[in-house]
Amino acid sequence: MSYHVESDAVSISINNKDEFMKVRTRVAPSPTGDPHVGTAYMALFCLCFARQHGGQFVLRIEDTDAARSTTTHEAQILQSLKWLGLDWDEGPDCGGPFAPYRQSERAEQGIYQQYADELVANGHAFKCFCTPERLEVMRQEQTARGEGARYDGLCTSLDQQEVENKIAAGEPHVVRMKVPAEGQCIVKDRLRGEIEIDWAQVDMQILLKTDGNPTYHLAVVIDDHLMEITHIIRGEEWISSAPKHILLHKYLGWDMPELIHMPLLRNPDKSKLSKRKNPTSINFFERMGYLPEVILNYLGMLGWSMPDGEEKFTLKEMIDKFDINRISLGAPVFDIEKLKWLNGRWLREDLSDDEFADRLTTWAYNRENLMQIIPLVKERVDVFTELPNLTSFFVEGLPVVTAESFEVKNVPSEDIVKILQFAAWETEALGDWNRDNLNQIFARLADVLGIKIRDVLAPIFIAISGKAVSPPLFDSMVVLGPDMTRARLRHALNTLGGVSKKKLKKLEKEYRANFA
Ligand code: GLU
Repeated sequence: MSYHVESDAVSISINNKDEFMKVRTRVAPSPTGDPHVGTAYMALFCLCFARQHGGQFVLRIEDTDAARSTTTHEAQILQSLKWLGLDWDEGPDCGGPFAPYRQSERAEQGIYQQYADELVANGHAFKCFCTPERLEVMRQEQTARGEGARYDGLCTSLDQQEVENKIAAGEPHVVRMKVPAEGQCIVKDRLRGEIEIDWAQVDMQILLKTDGNPTYHLAVVIDDHLMEITHIIRGEEWISSAPKHILLHKYLGWDMPELIHMPLLRNPDKSKLSKRKNPTSINFFERMGYLPEVILNYLGMLGWSMPDGEEKFTLKEMIDKFDINRISLGAPVFDIEKLKWLNGRWLREDLSDDEFADRLTTWAYNRENLMQIIPLVKERVDVFTELPNLTSFFVEGLPVVTAESFEVKNVPSEDIVKILQFAAWETEALGDWNRDNLNQIFARLADVLGIKIRDVLAPIFIAISGKAVSPPLFDSMVVLGPDMTRARLRHALNTLGGVSKKKLKKLEKEYRANFA
């Protein structure tokens, strides 16, 4: 079966032939944050689809955003996906025929530059010298006219000589793709059918930044092609980018892989699942004591169902029965209560006492955890029996606290809420989760609020450890990890009665004024 994407300017043929062809899927996380359940969700569907067709599943690291990508996040993402049992056939850790699988390394090899040059040489892309100031004025004018922001194409009219002169003069520039001014792109999605998008809504996307590094849009297209990806399974937030990708494939004379945009996971209030409202890190669920196979089971249930309607299934069962057409497009709500219920079912129905003991030992008393905790408490105990009281909070999930727990001398309750809320926001924004950075955050908090650091930390101690005294606070936060720490700060706020919308607005204003 084959169909065409038509517009005035382009006609692209996409083949839907996975019944007969080899299947290669990929998950392509950007290592800019904690390992997100959304990444595991995509990886699960990519894996099932590839395995079901006897194909390959590739893990590619999209670290073209050098400022936000870190090797720590990359390592955590790999570790989390492995913990879940989502094994890839090719990736940065195990290599493969299309290595390297890290875009920063591919950029060093000049892969993206080479295709950007080709696009420019063929007139499908152009060098753009517009300054940020000019682009800002352009945007403001567009907004004033009620138009969407879109590059106006000024630099497409530069002739060869002008371009060369500007380059000789050392003017910074980017490379942008050309996009038809009118007509429509029809994005064919396996689950959604044909989606029409006006070219007028599609920006002349930057492909190479001023530093010569590629943007996501260029790198993703080139890598999907060179890595022979046949099916792109990704989140629906990328639908609006699909016209750019389709057009770049066309410009480069390549077949477009088939597109499958999965529905986004949502908070119970139906907003997009975000760490601002809920824990989203796989690490958090690991620390909360969920079983990896249950997380997969639950992610599988969100947006997909077994033919017999059975809610409890293993990864193997999901692969065996997998049918991409059974994916439902309704907004799947990631509901921790439901996940907890499912985990309970698995614990009771599937683990023998023996296995239960093994799992528990690995979870709570594994060497890695102990080696992080022991240095924090060794000096404070004489006998082992003193340990539980001091360290139980590391494995407690959300500590048991009451509003009274937060009554701190010298600090009015108004300020306690502010401290906790600001701490939650500050820790959300923190890139590298380490002791020094945490120290800085709280020192600044004390400074801005004009409250003694000791008093600022008092409610934080309680939120994090459930007690007024605990092992060193920042080290403990490092052990707990960002998601668990934030969850405890939020839990503290809820225990204090929550923050009303009105109050939140006021706090946000004050926060932005002081911390932006
Ligand atoms: N690097 C992108 C992300 O982080 C991948 C999007 C895609 O699958 O094309 O979501």
